[in-house]
Amino acid sequence: MSERHLLVLDAGTTSTRAMLFTPDGTRVATAQADLTQFYPQPGWVEHDAVEIWAHTLDCARQMVAQAGGADAIAAIGITNQRETVVAWDRQSGDPLGRAIVWQDRRTADQCAALREGGHEGLVQQRTGLILDPYFSATKMRWMIDHWPEVAAGGDRLVFGTVESWLVWKLTGGLHISDASNASRTQLMALDGTGWDEELCALFGLPCAALPTIVDNAGDFGATLPDLLGGPIRICGLAGDQQAATIGQSCLKPGSVKATLGTGAFVLASLGERLPTSAHRLLGTVLCQIGGRRHYALEGSIFVAGSLIQWLRDSLGLIAAAADTDAIARSVPDNGGVVLLPALSGLGAPHWRPEATGIISGLTHGTGRAHIIRAALESMAHQVHDLAAAFAADGAPWHVLRIDGGMSANDWIAQDMADMLDLSVERPADVETTARGAAMLAGLGCGLFPSLEAAAGMASVRTRFVPTMTADVRAARLTAWRALLARP
Ligand code: ADP
Repeated sequence: MSERHLLVLDAGTTSTRAMLFTPDGTRVATAQADLTQFYPQPGWVEHDAVEIWAHTLDCARQMVAQAGGADAIAAIGITNQRETVVAWDRQSGDPLGRAIVWQDRRTADQCAALREGGHEGLVQQRTGLILDPYFSATKMRWMIDHWPEVAAGGDRLVFGTVESWLVWKLTGGLHISDASNASRTQLMALDGTGWDEELCALFGLPCAALPTIVDNAGDFGATLPDLLGGPIRICGLAGDQQAATIGQSCLKPGSVKATLGTGAFVLASLGERLPTSAHRLLGTVLCQIGGRRHYALEGSIFVAGSLIQWLRDSLGLIAAAADTDAIARSVPDNGGVVLLPALSGLGAPHWRPEATGIISGLTHGTGRAHIIRAALESMAHQVHDLAAAFAADGAPWHVLRIDGGMSANDWIAQDMADMLDLSVERPADVETTARGAAMLAGLGCGLFPSLEAAAGMASVRTRFVPTMTADVRAARLTAWRALLARP
């Protein structure tokens, strides 16, 4: 039997999936299971780590069966929702509470206290991250402070992000985390090899409970033979946004991807240059191969596809997200309507959590299509502001590669090309996160000699080239900036 397939396990925020890829990059099968979301209090979001594991195992088994058995799988690649923390018992392998999810805001006061204590400079300079509940460190401390099982864990206490948890369960006790995931904990210096003892002390965390930091590709260990009908090597690991950047082949400095889903995540590859930002963009590890790190600059937009969901579910203006494309084309322009999509504040580069949405320029001539068009236009406006921040931080974009559910909208893709005055490219298969994990697994098991060679797995792309005149672009930006300037 030929060892030809790569098995990807994608432990996302709302669902867990497993996918089979052939080494030429074709995705041949997918299994998916939705994940229960727990909201114990406003602003709190939890997952059941046992459910994540059970779904992962179930989806993986379906894919192994489809491939024709464990022998038909060359390697496993894992990608995951980042920053989410699991605490478990070293002896039993059982979780000591629910996982605290990246979206969870319960540690806002802890972050504010650290900021008031004057620690943000150190944290940002060393980790590339700002002090925010988003990241893992304060979540770990919160577990120690509030959950007796975690507090009493002692030497048996183990922390990890989701890839770390899955590797432990798959291998029966291997405790590792890859550098891309580790760079989101706020406990690893961007240019340091292991955990940073000073940062662990600042957050009050025991370094011994943390996993060993490893490369993103390599031969990390084999799955327990009984789980999948035979041992399979685990050879690739990466956080979801880094995996998508790799899956889009954004490896060279200046290449950028934007994942347009519920929110939008933009990562620009910096090569081996350490990221620094004067515009509150985040510095992060893109990948570590053979001990060498590549970095990325990252900016997040909070409201992207969720604005379209709001038009559909709260306003009832559209029946389906895909309808917006034709509706936007049905009018020659926005008719003077401009929309600020700050439904949950504004993220990078504005960072205005208190901002609320605005629709301006309404007249008797305004129709539903103008409002929908203004909503779609706000996507390019937000991405344009990020592009300006990246350029000001010394990371100008040369081409933008898009993926995610919203990237299916041709009108938005063209408008982004027009407003950025840049080519925008969209792969035929937008499952770039899984593709990135497959590329890393293929590299790790020796199917490919380098990540650049693995980039042959990328699918063909549709290209959107700018056609807008400078005058039209300038007028759009003037109107957008006027809205941003409102208190
Ligand atoms: P996530 O991974 O964040 O759950 P997806 O990548 O699946 O999100 O994208 C889903 C989002 O994309 C939804 O918010 C939806 O409103 C939006 N979306 C999907 N298709 C379109 C479309 N054709 N035009 C505009 N928005 C779309």
